[in-house]
Amino acid sequence: MDLLADLIIIWFIVLLYRRWTGPVRPRFRPERPVTAGRSVRSGGEMVSCAHCGLYLPHAEALTGADGKTYCSREHARAP
Ligand SMILES: [Zn+2]
Repeated sequence: MDLLADLIIIWFIVLLYRRWTGPVRPRFRPERPVTAGRSVRSGGEMVSCAHCGLYLPHAEALTGADGKTYCSREHARAP
């Protein structure tokens, strides 16, 4: 019974400590794409071509004049 009381006290202290130390870290990285087709500027992420929808690594994607990502030069130029 003492162990249970100790655990509750420790849990309560941890809870208060977390509140005092500010907001909890966000669970999701903000740079992660939420919807398909969004351009992401961090390396290692998968992005989709704004013309055909093909997914490719951001490092291999081309950025068009409009700021969107494309899989090839032809698609970046396509209307
Ligand atoms: Zn494409």
